[in-house]
Amino acid sequence: MILPIYAYGQPVLRKKAASIDAEYPQLKALIDNMFETMYDSNGIGLAAPQIGVSIRLFIVDGSEIENIKPKKFKEVFINPIIEDEFGTEWEFEEGCLSIPDVRAHVKRKGELTIRYFDQNWNEHVKTFNGMAARIIQHEYDHLEGILFTDRIGPLKRNMLKRRMDGITQGRVNVDYKMKFPKK
Ligand code: ZN
Repeated sequence: MILPIYAYGQPVLRKKAASIDAEYPQLKALIDNMFETMYDSNGIGLAAPQIGVSIRLFIVDGSEIENIKPKKFKEVFINPIIEDEFGTEWEFEEGCLSIPDVRAHVKRKGELTIRYFDQNWNEHVKTFNGMAARIIQHEYDHLEGILFTDRIGPLKRNMLKRRMDGITQGRVNVDYKMKFPKK
């Protein structure tokens, strides 16, 4: 089932999400729906708060990205903890399904080590770099209530303000289902 993506201005995007346990109801269905929703909107990552569910879960599929490591970068991250971020900072133009039509360069560290559970509750500790690390950092931020536009300079944010206010008011052309804040 394709779910509406919560738009910039929705309070759930600003909340710190809660950890879950293996008893969490209908987790498999939720994850399936998140993948369907992400593919429908051509995303490469989606965090649960973006569909209005404030839990520590995000999914990624960057398999189509050229030269990404690992080659098949499709994973589910439950209760993730970034244990370390290291390596040279680099800039990349990011976007977000919750903030359509807005892109900006964001500086992030190049590598990270993350501890997490997969959908079968197996625990992993893995190190990622390059685009894979970038996608994880962006999605992990969503669990902390942080958006990529918080990480850009004040000048650029000022330039984007009108467009972002427009999104909050539902004034944006988007070809996937979104849920805008109540007016
Ligand atoms: Zn995002």
